[in-house]
Amino acid sequence: MKFAVKILAVMIAIVLLPHYTMAESDTEEKELTDEEKQEMRMALYQKAEAISQIPWYYYAAIDQYERNIHDEYASESGIISITFPKNLWNGKTNPSENDQQHKAFIDLFNGIGADGNGDNIADRTDDEDIIQTMADWFSRRGHSKQDIKIAIWDFYNRELSVQTIMNTAKVYKSFKTLNLEEHAFPLPKGYNYSYRNTWGDPRGFGGRRIHEGTDIFANYGVPVRSTSYGVVEMKGWNRYGGWRIGIRDTHNIYHYYAHLNGYEDNIKVGQVVKPGDVIGYVGASGYGPKGTSGKFPPHLHYGMYKDTGETEHSFDPYPYLRRAEANE
Ligand SMILES: [Zn+2]
Repeated sequence: MKFAVKILAVMIAIVLLPHYTMAESDTEEKELTDEEKQEMRMALYQKAEAISQIPWYYYAAIDQYERNIHDEYASESGIISITFPKNLWNGKTNPSENDQQHKAFIDLFNGIGADGNGDNIADRTDDEDIIQTMADWFSRRGHSKQDIKIAIWDFYNRELSVQTIMNTAKVYKSFKTLNLEEHAFPLPKGYNYSYRNTWGDPRGFGGRRIHEGTDIFANYGVPVRSTSYGVVEMKGWNRYGGWRIGIRDTHNIYHYYAHLNGYEDNIKVGQVVKPGDVIGYVGASGYGPKGTSGKFPPHLHYGMYKDTGETEHSFDPYPYLRRAEANE
């Protein structure tokens, strides 16, 4: 019986689908500015909030996370980046891999794809359908912060993904805007400092490591500032880094500030920061047990690590520092 239903469904699909596969037009698209894209995104997030009673910034955060981990998105609009795997959208046993299917058809296979624009089609490439599907995903799991965390966990099965999205949501909530592209140089103007590109140099301490960052030499006590919007993810002693701080920004990048002399008073894990916020002070801590200092000249070690959604890797911060310095 179940099989017969599926056969019937497939036949219906064959009759109905060609129309939708033709739907992609070749009308000329004009490039949207980043601002226009952000406005359109915000409208979709707010629509999702209205449907689900889950705040817009969670949609913004998950969408931003997806923008950071994929090179290509299901949606071609450049607006929404959330990309549902085909077999999740259509249902594992769905015989069709088509991106545009009747909602009633994919329901037969427990696909999660939803129809957000009222055309009865769950279109995996349509922004409104995507955001509706995300709204359903959250709604099914509840409205508390813990429920939202579980919903994100169910989607990624990865702790760092959950943490990053929750933190990004916190940043959006704090600043109430999607426009968080501003950057700052870690040391303020008016202090003497120097740095050069030491990426990949061998390190003396801790075995065969290479230098994963840029050293900015300055005097003890020069303020160290956050270079980006983000959330303090890590704070405390580390054998190599001494007193260090790690800040995750909204681009899945972890900014690592090491060898500090001390922290700014109010800095704690979970705190939201913006570019230019003082987080600590230049020192020479590290290369030994807790409290070790003065084994090298005072400097800020600044590292950048990108999380791809699967692994984290360091990359050379030097060009970013030069650019931020030039824009100050
Ligand atoms: Zn260094």
